[in-house]
Amino acid sequence: MHRILNFNAGPSTLPLPVLEQARDEFVEFRGTGMSIVEMSHRAKPYEEVHFGAVSLIRELLDLPDHYKVLFLGGGATLQFAMVPMNLLPAGRSCDFTLTGSWAKKACDDARKIGSVSVVYDGKPVNYLSLPAPADLMLDPAAAYLHLTANETIGGVQWQSFPDAGEVPIVCDMSSDFLSRRLPVDRFGLIYAGAQKNVGPAGATVVLIRDDMLERCADTLPAYLDYRTHAEGDSLYNTPPVFALYMVKLVLEHLKAAGGLAAAEKWADQRSGLVYDAIEGSGGFYSCPVPPHCRSKMNVVFRLPSEALEKTFVAEAAAAGMEGLKGHRSVGGCRASLYNAMPIAGAEALARFMAEFAAQNG
Ligand SMILES: *Cc1c(COP(=O)(O)O)cnc(C)c1O
Repeated sequence: MHRILNFNAGPSTLPLPVLEQARDEFVEFRGTGMSIVEMSHRAKPYEEVHFGAVSLIRELLDLPDHYKVLFLGGGATLQFAMVPMNLLPAGRSCDFTLTGSWAKKACDDARKIGSVSVVYDGKPVNYLSLPAPADLMLDPAAAYLHLTANETIGGVQWQSFPDAGEVPIVCDMSSDFLSRRLPVDRFGLIYAGAQKNVGPAGATVVLIRDDMLERCADTLPAYLDYRTHAEGDSLYNTPPVFALYMVKLVLEHLKAAGGLAAAEKWADQRSGLVYDAIEGSGGFYSCPVPPHCRSKMNVVFRLPSEALEKTFVAEAAAAGMEGLKGHRSVGGCRASLYNAMPIAGAEALARFMAEFAAQNG
């Protein structure tokens, strides 16, 4: 078996012990005579997986009792619509920070539902920087403030979050969920597609505070109403059982490895290695993002020419490091360094970068 170092932005690398355990128990799940994907989602063995995943999320985040953990389908993208459908009533407005591609998509959907006020637009800086949280002019009457914690494509990440006072913060954490400790009580709602840090595509995690549930619109079809899932323990309809089983394994792995404090330390180390390789290259590599908002999950960088970037990506792949091409919308290079990327993987990339610069600079 041959496994490469996988720097893809998502779906992305998962812990090898998790993949191996899933393989080993796939055909017959723990003495049940069937696979986890063949049994009822109301059967006890699946319930243990489902509620086990809920309690691991609660434990890892030290989640207060007045938050619910929901598992939904539809990816983070469905949340772009569900959030305003539930929480943006007629006559109210929400505040949006346009920090990159994902925030723009979320904002476009919100505008179809209700009134949006843009409190930050990164367009003049090509979405390559973030404002100081304290500089945002927030509307104290807003229904919520929407943030994107980490812009996976642009490589910018909020290092600290604004204080929105009484206004609940709704945050898309798809690409940095469970990569650092979090002041959860600042947020009214957090959502994350699983396929970056917590599992395979198909499951979406939503954390919602009880007072937000009380604000949900009464007019929505069942699946689109957060209360349906809160009341039904995310078993109102068939949940994405295999994805959630994998999520539970990833959460167990993270807990055993030291939880969020450990994840945060490794994210600092991995991204530090790659940013140092950029800064130490005498200008061969450059990072377009200023230090105060550089992402610890997605490190974006440029080489002196597009031709060299192409060669870099190809030679890295030949050396066993894949997924380093930047997103097609922005070009350049990008190394995604999620929770499951070993420190040794970031070290190998930093070494390769130094060698490539020495040969081509
Ligand atoms: C990947 C990603 C999304 C889209 O997630 P889907 O699960 O594909 O809908 C949304 N927001 C951010 C920040 C992402 O990284």
